[in-house]
Amino acid sequence: MKRLTLLTNPDRCNLRCPLCFLNQRGRTLGMGEMPIEVARAAIERFAGAEIPAQKKLREVIPSTMGEPLLYTYFDELLDFCCSRRLPLNLTTNGTFPGKWGTEPGMERLLDACSDIKVSCMAFDDATFDEMMPGFSFERWRDNVCRLAGFGRGSVTLQVTVHKKLVAKVPEILAWADSIGIARIKWNLPVFISGGQTLRARYDVDAATVRELREFLSPRGQCKGSLFFDGDFGSSCVKAGHACEFFKDEIWILPDGTEEFCPNPERRFGDRNAAGATCGSCVLLKPIA
Ligand code: SF4
Repeated sequence: MKRLTLLTNPDRCNLRCPLCFLNQRGRTLGMGEMPIEVARAAIERFAGAEIPAQKKLREVIPSTMGEPLLYTYFDELLDFCCSRRLPLNLTTNGTFPGKWGTEPGMERLLDACSDIKVSCMAFDDATFDEMMPGFSFERWRDNVCRLAGFGRGSVTLQVTVHKKLVAKVPEILAWADSIGIARIKWNLPVFISGGQTLRARYDVDAATVRELREFLSPRGQCKGSLFFDGDFGSSCVKAGHACEFFKDEIWILPDGTEEFCPNPERRFGDRNAAGATCGSCVLLKPIA
């Protein structure tokens, strides 16, 4: 297992982004925060001295649902991983709450993380207020500039390419370039069942996806689900086995339960919906 994702604090966030799976489903996960002992035990299970080098854990991802920098035991988790020379791969909403917004806080993160991905779901005031309510576009942009300005570590912009952001793609590219961010992940929005209104408001049609691919590909910015392609139609796994597409990864729920499948329809939505099956997996659906 190369990457371990700990759902440290899925219900604890300082924003209310409409595309968040917990907001899409309209209720919390209800499992509380992961006790630090559970996090430590999970890491030890996959990083222990007895694990052969080729199977050893390479990095730890703290909660990709909820804001990881609000995890009560984030400091301890960081120290524990550092003590085992394990980098964190952090995805944050860019608010950098508390000490993490200070110079020493950001430097500590840059030194301890293999990458810091900052979510970008808007690139103007009005859309920011709609897509990442609870913070301001100006403060978000200032945080990203400061983080990139240290010129150390790895910083990635993780852009959700929804309908209201498409027109801003050239501006985002130019801005990232101007502040020294070379890596951008372009992800399409993912909708779980029951989100028809959201889908109508934010989904991007196939023609636009093709245009964006053509525009971005020559620029070398080809990371992210915008570029996923191919036939994912066949069933890929049996319950309890690693997913063919995420075979080097495992997810740990706050109570320590292990999961091999990150499909949000299964985890947060309706397990009986078509999108919860491998054949129609909402994460791997090809662009029509
Ligand atoms: S539902 Fe999707 S993510 Fe889950 S195991 Fe199947 S293909 Fe993989």
